[in-house]
Amino acid sequence: MSDNAEPVSGNCLCGSVRYEVDQFARGVVGCHCEQCRKTSGHYVAATKATHDNLRMISDKTLKWYRSSDIAERGFCSECGSNLFWRRIGEDATSIMAGALNNPTGLALQSHIYTDDMGDYYELHDDVPTYPQSG
Ligand SMILES: [Zn+2]
Ligand SMILES: [Zn+2]
Repeated sequence: MSDNAEPVSGNCLCGSVRYEVDQFARGVVGCHCEQCRKTSGHYVAATKATHDNLRMISDKTLKWYRSSDIAERGFCSECGSNLFWRRIGEDATSIMAGALNNPTGLALQSHIYTDDMGDYYELHDDVPTYPQSG
């Protein structure tokens, strides 16, 4: 993505968790898997950054929930905002795009796990869709 000037900021709804991202590793991916549906209330839209590009400003209320054998999800224990997903041991964290503050410079790039999507909505954008992982 852009190797530009200003970092992009993000925060939870109550503002207790705040962070900045210097550079994103990819655009935004919509994940329609069951876990993302349950945790988000719809589906997850997330970008990603390596850990040296993700700077926590305040994380006192950030809690991690081990959601599967391979991954954990970060959320604010005060307001409940869904903030991060990371694979155990990987040097990168997926960042829920809705918690970022505009302008992000990002764009939606694909939808994954559409085999698992809810039956109450359809996708009508022009980005590629993948039945399982991208
Ligand atoms: Zn919060
Ligand atoms: Zn998912």
